[in-house]
Amino acid sequence: MSETIFTKIIKREIPANIVHEDDQIIVFHDINPRAPVHLLLVPKKPIPTLADVAEEDLHLITHIHREAQRLAKELNFEGWRMLINVGEKGGQEVFHLHYHLLGWPRE
Ligand code: AMP
Repeated sequence: MSETIFTKIIKREIPANIVHEDDQIIVFHDINPRAPVHLLLVPKKPIPTLADVAEEDLHLITHIHREAQRLAKELNFEGWRMLINVGEKGGQEVFHLHYHLLGWPRE
């Protein structure tokens, strides 16, 4: 798989507004937000799409969901949405698995 922009962000080769990082994932603000808060939750392992997730990767999926819960609480979201685009026809532009977390904080 050729390197995507998200790998460059993980390696700090290009800047991003990072809100969380651990040994498995990185979370940063989407450059083109489509909600009051729009984050991208990205596993460090460069899995191209959700369709490529294997049994051995399921711990990453669980971790991303747990981190989304934690961030939604920390950022005081009243409502939120998680979205994954899969494949070009599904609207995916960056072929490194990522979850969009769209949040609407309490006023
Ligand atoms: P998708 O269409 O699901 O592949 O989403 C890719 C997302 O990455 C889009 O919402 C873009 O706005 C976002 N994006 C692209 N480049 C960057 C970047 N350098 N920093 C942050 N977000 C980016």
